[in-house]
Amino acid sequence: MKVLIVGAGFAGVAAAFAARRAGASVTMVAGAPGASALYCGAVDGVDAELPHELLQALGLRLAKGAQVATREGVVRGSSGADSALLNLALLAGKRVAVVDVPRDDWDGPLLARSFASSSWARSTETRFELVPLPLLEKGHQRRVSAYDFAAGFERPERPAWLAELLKAHAGPDAWLFGPWLGLKRSLAAELSQAAGVPVGEVTSPPGGPAGARFELRRDSLLASLGVERVTGRVTDVEVASGEVALRLGGQAAMRGGALVLATGGFVGGGIALSGALSGAEPAGFELSIRGLPPVRLQGEPAQPVSSLFGVDLAARGRALLEHVGLPTSRDGRVSGTSLVFAAGDVVGPVPPSVGQALQSGLRAGAAAAGTA
Ligand SMILES: Cc1cc2nc3c(=O)[nH]c(=O)nc-3n(C[C@H](O)[C@H](O)[C@H](O)COP(=O)(O)OP(=O)(O)OC[C@H]3O[C@@H](n4cnc5c(N)ncnc54)[C@H](O)[C@@H]3O)c2cc1C
Repeated sequence: MKVLIVGAGFAGVAAAFAARRAGASVTMVAGAPGASALYCGAVDGVDAELPHELLQALGLRLAKGAQVATREGVVRGSSGADSALLNLALLAGKRVAVVDVPRDDWDGPLLARSFASSSWARSTETRFELVPLPLLEKGHQRRVSAYDFAAGFERPERPAWLAELLKAHAGPDAWLFGPWLGLKRSLAAELSQAAGVPVGEVTSPPGGPAGARFELRRDSLLASLGVERVTGRVTDVEVASGEVALRLGGQAAMRGGALVLATGGFVGGGIALSGALSGAEPAGFELSIRGLPPVRLQGEPAQPVSSLFGVDLAARGRALLEHVGLPTSRDGRVSGTSLVFAAGDVVGPVPPSVGQALQSGLRAGAAAAGTA
């Protein structure tokens, strides 16, 4: 039987990987890009082994105690990252060159000072030194998006030119660039090999190169797995007679033996606000697809029960947005259902992260394939 997956973020692609590995055929339905297309390139929240093939296909590298530099000037720990990001943990006590480029979104002097004054750099005696590089070919490149600037380095002559530039500046133990090292090509790896020292990036802005790389690699992986893709927005789910039916707008129902809901949280569009929103009135939350159990908030129902009683957003603060979601069992089965599984940001109350999306996606995909 077939496994239906709704959502094409990290959770959906991990579910598809696991379900295909378990021998199920898979159809994936997804609408607009979600949080995975916006992520900054760091992988947080990993607390279990992940399949090497999946990580490799998505261009992710896990490393215990990894340290990444953010574009806001912070050095922070993570479980891993897009392989274009520089893992500073491997450079403790060394000299890291921060490239100085006159782009409007990059203040090299300030970033180098900020990284150098981080508690990690001071405790490991790691130095960050500014090195000007003539990376701009034309004046408008100071203002183009990081995505466009990264794409420009993939023109056939640019990687070899950049490699020569780095070789001519011998001395640093590593190079730290903005998020510009290509989209389709692994320029960080190519340049590291050419320069003989690690070359990598800081984190990406939302919707920048890291998210774009995820989408490109996801598409190749799903194609190689033979996953059928459908673009559209699911409005309703019906579960009856050992079968799941999805409805997309006015189209005929799509049927399968099990469903993995990987529709994301608020960013992905899986969970929406419901009820009154004006002034101090209470509001609540609901799944954006009809026919499924209600989302919950710290064990309580999260849907408003009347115009007077609901979730008081003002009193409980924004942090509650991370706690709203569908309760599931360990294998991802949605409580109160038999054929519906959930993974990623739509599951509550787990804080959203790439690591949790991948892990829960793998569990849900395997369990759904075993049920279908
Ligand atoms: C700006 C930003 C930065 C982040 N940075 C990090 C980071 O550094 N490290 C980290 O670990 N995590 C980070 N995260 C969190 C991480 O990106 C998410 O936890 C993860 O990507 C969630 O993946 P997901 O598959 O659950 O959901 P999403 O990626 O949101 O995917 C949801 C999918 O469901 C689809 N969908 C939703 N509703 C429907 C419907 N009704 N019909 C059809 N399709 C539907 C959407 O089209 C989308 O494809 C960041 C998040 C954001 C927003």
